[in-house]
Amino acid sequence: MLGLVLDFTGFRNVPITIMLSLVTVEGRDPRLRKIIHIDMDAFYASVEQRDHPAYRGKPIVVGGRPEQRGAVAAASYEAREYGIHSALPARIAQQRCPHLIFVAPRFTVYRQISEHIREIFSRYTDCIEPLALDEAYLDVTENKPGEVSAIAIARAIRQAIHQETQLTASAGVSFNKFLAKIASGMDKPDGLYVIRPEQAADFVATLPIEKFHGIGKVTATKMHGLGIHTGAELRAWEEGDLVQRFGKVGRFYYSRRHLG
Ligand SMILES: [Mg+2]
Repeated sequence: MLGLVLDFTGFRNVPITIMLSLVTVEGRDPRLRKIIHIDMDAFYASVEQRDHPAYRGKPIVVGGRPEQRGAVAAASYEAREYGIHSALPARIAQQRCPHLIFVAPRFTVYRQISEHIREIFSRYTDCIEPLALDEAYLDVTENKPGEVSAIAIARAIRQAIHQETQLTASAGVSFNKFLAKIASGMDKPDGLYVIRPEQAADFVATLPIEKFHGIGKVTATKMHGLGIHTGAELRAWEEGDLVQRFGKVGRFYYSRRHLG
């Protein structure tokens, strides 16, 4: 059969391999892991809205102020409607939304909440890989309550987070980190999204190329110019052609044929 292996070594320094051949041909495989990616929704901004009722329902950003040449660390969903997102210079954020509220970060509070949610995770597993204060991968293949369903665990964790912190988290459930992280972003905020093994190949095939970790903005634009917009379109390219267009890194985006 014709297989495809994609490596995403640029993904927060975590090497991740997706073996499409495995999921397309063999379907559900008992060796597959059960991975949950938990991501707090607009974390810093949501904490500030929780603690300051005056900020609720308003466009706010946490981070530096425009006059200090600061940048946005987190934007509330109301601010996002103005095209404001994290890493945006505060000055530009203010231009996009003149009544935007700038809030100074309170990292001590964020760290405390982060410890609390990590304690919630630890009720289910000790296989916790934090990515940031508000994000972590959990491997629940083996878990403390002996729960078979990773979806049930994700649901219980989201509920506990909401009850105990009055904040919402989104969860993605799949059989590897790459897909679990993509899944948690699918139904944000306050969402739960599952990518099952038998859906993975189709999912990756239709996934926009810019969502592939390791493919940055510049590469994505270049790929668009070549008519590559999705995983399926990338798969159609020969390795040699990708190397010719992208240099040695083309091998990194690449498709590798192997008989199996
Ligand atoms: Mg988050």
